[in-house]
Amino acid sequence: MKYSNQAIESLGLINIIINEQGYISDLSEQAAELFRMEMGDNIFSACPIEFLDEHYQPYPCIDNLCEKIAKQTSECTLTPYDFECGLSYPDRNVVWLKIHVVVRESSLVLHCSDIGELVAARRLNRQLSIQDPHTGLLYREAFLTKIKEENRHGTVCCVRICNYQRINEIWGAAVANLVFMEILARAYTETNNAICSKHSTDSFIVFVPSEDSLDIEHFYSLLNEPFHFNGRHFFSNVALGYYQEKPSDEHEQSLNKAEMAILDVSAERIRLAEFQEDLAKQIEHQNNLEMEFRSAINDDLNKHFHTTFQPIHCSQTGKVVGGECLIRWVLNGKMVSPVEFIPISEKTGDIGLLTQFNIRQLGEMVRELENKGIDTSKYLFALNISVVEILDVDFVDKLTECIKLNGLVSEQVKLELTESALIDNFNYVNLVLEQVQDLGFRVSIDDFGTGFSSLSYLCRLRFDEIKIDREFVTNVVSDSKLQTVFNSIASLATNLNKPVVAEGVETLEQLIYAQAKGIEYIQGYYFSKPLQKDDYIYHLMSNQI
Ligand code: C2E
Ligand code: CA
Ligand code: CA
Repeated sequence: MKYSNQAIESLGLINIIINEQGYISDLSEQAAELFRMEMGDNIFSACPIEFLDEHYQPYPCIDNLCEKIAKQTSECTLTPYDFECGLSYPDRNVVWLKIHVVVRESSLVLHCSDIGELVAARRLNRQLSIQDPHTGLLYREAFLTKIKEENRHGTVCCVRICNYQRINEIWGAAVANLVFMEILARAYTETNNAICSKHSTDSFIVFVPSEDSLDIEHFYSLLNEPFHFNGRHFFSNVALGYYQEKPSDEHEQSLNKAEMAILDVSAERIRLAEFQEDLAKQIEHQNNLEMEFRSAINDDLNKHFHTTFQPIHCSQTGKVVGGECLIRWVLNGKMVSPVEFIPISEKTGDIGLLTQFNIRQLGEMVRELENKGIDTSKYLFALNISVVEILDVDFVDKLTECIKLNGLVSEQVKLELTESALIDNFNYVNLVLEQVQDLGFRVSIDDFGTGFSSLSYLCRLRFDEIKIDREFVTNVVSDSKLQTVFNSIASLATNLNKPVVAEGVETLEQLIYAQAKGIEYIQGYYFSKPLQKDDYIYHLMSNQI
């Protein structure tokens, strides 16, 4: 007889009572059918059924029961307990039961209940944690276990479909999934023993054992061949990072290395890269720096950071007209460049804390100038603002509050935004810029000329000043192409009636060149490097307007 869930339910109670020797003194009709035993049988010797655990392995639950009974008679009273098992019949049908064992007088009573559905649900869950239901690919852990079991070494490839997101947006998820499966199928057909794993929405891992002798260049170009679906022509745009294992390698490390290699190729046009050791060092350095940054930003900021002020001068008179706040981080006695840690602070969401820190330092500096009798309203102080901050909906409120709190007024402050940051979210950023300008702040476009912004953008943007990037200044005296760029930025600004700051002016020749082109303001080592507060105050007072 076959047992389905309904069949068991219709059977009603499943109870067996056994004595200390294991002889059945009573059992319900249902139990008799399920266990295929009768009154008087010995459960230890006569039970014809095989017991299984959830992994379908033999489960010695009856032996365990023997031990319990032995203990019960020799030592103390058995506390009730549960166990789960499968009853396996010759027709391969398995019934899953939970068996509750209690002692009544000198007998053991086994109450059984059906847990078929529960076990099925647990098995499904387990399956879902092993295998991606959309692609059938193993997840990372299961993949690693499988290649470990194979006990072979080979090449670990990380394959990313770079245009997956675009395909998804244009053609929909179903087509994107088809493209994924097509490229995956190519990986399987090209190798005999490949094991693949899901990596992320747009990427998968392929392990190719050495005996498959993979020709990686050929493999890469095969994955990149165009294909057709429903009369449509799709270009593949696949990146491949790989690592060739040595016999001593741990697979998990190899997988990490292939993942690092893919990070390296994603930005390049040729998207095939083998893992390089110095890449690992670079990533490790980056990770360490991020960790150090997290601990510094959560500590007393004054212990780790300070603000320097780089003077900005009038190109004609040489007087100081203001300055730019530039943050510094000292880690283990060494300066870390803001170019390295500003992107980290953007990623961790802490950039706003650094801006607030700069505003506090600026407030102190301005107060000291005032105390020395300087009318600071004649000066303009620049803060660098990252686009990540601008996109924070509370940006304007936070900024104005912090400025006020530190005794500053908006008319003293200009906000520098890089050109590329402006373009990416043009409409929203422009709206925020209009708001801050209405509050009295000035807006300056930093690193001008590096972001390839079009004139149509520029005409719609509300800004007050342009900063020509150092890149165009450094060799302007000797390079005629740079002169063309420099000159056209200068005349563009004149036509728009906006003043220009030339950054990175280091020599007298550069200064003379800038002056000749009508550049109003100069920032650079020619006049001064960024200075600590006291030095800046001294510098300003020696070159007062
Ligand atoms: P930036 O805004 O373009 O700042 C000017 C950079 O050029 C500063 O580098 C400054 O020290 C350097 N510089 C100025 N004059 C000369 C010169 O004549 N020659 C040379 N070789 N360099 C000169 P720094 O301080 O290393 O900052 C680099 C970048 O990091 C800044 O570029 C800015 O984008 C960012 N940054 C610095 N401080 C902050 C900050 O507090 N907040 C934000 N959001 N970004 C900051
Ligand atoms: Ca700047
Ligand atoms: Ca700049």
